[in-house]
Amino acid sequence: MKRHPSFICFLSAVFFAGMSIVSCGEKPKLPPEPENPGEEPSGPTVTETAVTASPAAFDGEKRASVTYQLLVYSFADSDGDGWGDFNGITERLGYLDDMGVSAIWLSPIHPSSSYHGYSVSDYFTVNDRFGTEADFSNLVSAAHEKGISIYLDYVLNHSGSDNPWFIDAVSSADSRYRDWYLLSDDPENDVRKGMFPMLGTGGYNAGEWRGAPVKGRMHFRLDWRNPSAPTVTVSRTDEDPDVPDEDGTENFFIWYGEGQIARFKETSAGIYELTLDFDSSWGFLIRTSDTTWDGGTKWGAASATAAISFDVPFALDNKTAADIHWSLLYQGVFDRSMPDFNYGDVAEAENTDVFRELVSSAGKWISLGVDGFRLDAVKHIYPRADGPENPLFLSKWYDAVNELYHAAGHDDDIYMVGEVLDGEVSHVAPYYRGLPALFEFAFWYRLEWAINNYTGCYFVKDILGYQDQYKANRADYIEPTKLSNHDEDRAGEVLGRSLVKEKLAACVLLTAGGEPYVYQGEELGYYGSKAGGDEYVRAPMKWTRSGTVPTECLGGKVDANMLNADRSVEAQLADEGSLLNVYRTFMRLRNTYPALADGVMTRHARYNDSNTADKAAAVWYMTARDGSGRMLVTHNFGNAPITLDLAGDDLSHCVGLNGDVSIRNDGGAETLVLGSFATAVFEQ
Ligand code: MG
Repeated sequence: MKRHPSFICFLSAVFFAGMSIVSCGEKPKLPPEPENPGEEPSGPTVTETAVTASPAAFDGEKRASVTYQLLVYSFADSDGDGWGDFNGITERLGYLDDMGVSAIWLSPIHPSSSYHGYSVSDYFTVNDRFGTEADFSNLVSAAHEKGISIYLDYVLNHSGSDNPWFIDAVSSADSRYRDWYLLSDDPENDVRKGMFPMLGTGGYNAGEWRGAPVKGRMHFRLDWRNPSAPTVTVSRTDEDPDVPDEDGTENFFIWYGEGQIARFKETSAGIYELTLDFDSSWGFLIRTSDTTWDGGTKWGAASATAAISFDVPFALDNKTAADIHWSLLYQGVFDRSMPDFNYGDVAEAENTDVFRELVSSAGKWISLGVDGFRLDAVKHIYPRADGPENPLFLSKWYDAVNELYHAAGHDDDIYMVGEVLDGEVSHVAPYYRGLPALFEFAFWYRLEWAINNYTGCYFVKDILGYQDQYKANRADYIEPTKLSNHDEDRAGEVLGRSLVKEKLAACVLLTAGGEPYVYQGEELGYYGSKAGGDEYVRAPMKWTRSGTVPTECLGGKVDANMLNADRSVEAQLADEGSLLNVYRTFMRLRNTYPALADGVMTRHARYNDSNTADKAAAVWYMTARDGSGRMLVTHNFGNAPITLDLAGDDLSHCVGLNGDVSIRNDGGAETLVLGSFATAVFEQ
């Protein structure tokens, strides 16, 4: 690899009169006078001229599709209640508009028992923590005025367990919602018998089946006369419930529902009883302490599949101590708060009531001006992630929603992007048969590996290889690229909290093909790991140096050290060298030039995967689809300067720059010197 021995802009060299030095945007400065003008210079004549960028003036037209991933609960809190809200977003639209984003993906806006919103209680209304429906409509209108589209996060795999559909479904075998979910008294056999066409016959996994919610006034009787084999008997009753016994001394408790606990009373030797209004989404446990959580105080079922029946003594176990539930179970792949929908046989999925109702809910948001949807967890809807069912289901969903979109007066097709969380592109690509866009997780995994290993030469080949796989499934595929998102350790964390690496990652994201997503806080250099909880990768925006951030939404799990004054929007807007300004500069560049906005990415003849001698270099072209222009994009993924021989490329007009970049002339050929982690983009 050619390395410049000493990376400074101007080497001590004699400047030849009349020599042509390429300077991007400014005239080269003259080198210092030789100390002894009478002496002949010795050795080759070398000049090195700093490159500066002179992009065309931005005309205000957003040519690129760049989406900002925004967490409604932690982006901007307009009323100071500790939760972000619609009005907060509306107030901050100028920030997003100035940055150059063309769309916003909102985290789920619906009512939900979870802060993140992925367990939806009602698909037809907004979460009142975020404001009113009028506030939401106002946000949509204000965004549209700035040329910003609104995409909603939509969850089709499951609802929340507190969704009235689910509560009704489990309350009675006659419920009209009974078959909207996967409910069974004996799932193992029912699945194997093929009673759930959407699960196939081999998809039984005990860990995905959970006790259905049970509600009602109940009498609990503990028989502890033989402490080595205690039992509990539960009966429905009309008796008055017991008054909570705050001062009792018996150490027998029932734990149920959302962290509720009640004390039993001893009614005869070794017999403890309690009547209460029971309401639990998961069942119950018996505890012999209400203050400690270890030491064998927990008594439950001997196995996860054991079910209790009313009026029948149930043997308690404190080794496995699984949750005690009744025989009705439901499938919830992710969590007991998220019961999975049942779309039946995929061949008929579009005819199910639940499919129709969810399409109808999407139609409501389209009528309020929503421009697209981000679909959550789509590889889980049908259990075979690699089967044909999910792509087929998604194509039906897309067509049905697109029909409503056209009916609402739109001439174009609706935008829809799916989340298939998988770094293996061959697993993601078949989903393009169902949807126009799927997040390219591999982009980030590949990029972070490349930067952390100082190896840029394979990057273009990898990305072009991914595109070939998409193309094979959908000619007009959209390639949504990204760094980290709300389910991953922060890009800043993965890149070792290194500002220069984060700047390079931003430059690559915004100069490569595809349609980039920028995740809230990424532009400010947020770091954080999921190890302490997902909240730490979902931190609130810090708008001002000294201002507070909403923390209630994250249960206080906010890293105050990370959110220091320098990581605020205010500080970074004022600092020309900030990460935020790298994002702003390169997003503007992408919006200025069609070649960068949505151009075709191609390999460079010399610097590519076959050139492992210069492995730190990542070089490619971006060519406008209408042939109106071409850019040479150069990055140094290495932590030392590299010198590139770009004979045949035009280095006379640099339009985008990050880091130290210069052009070296040794009296004949010119070479490009890219400082560590530097980027330069040249118009061709
Ligand atoms: Mg608020």
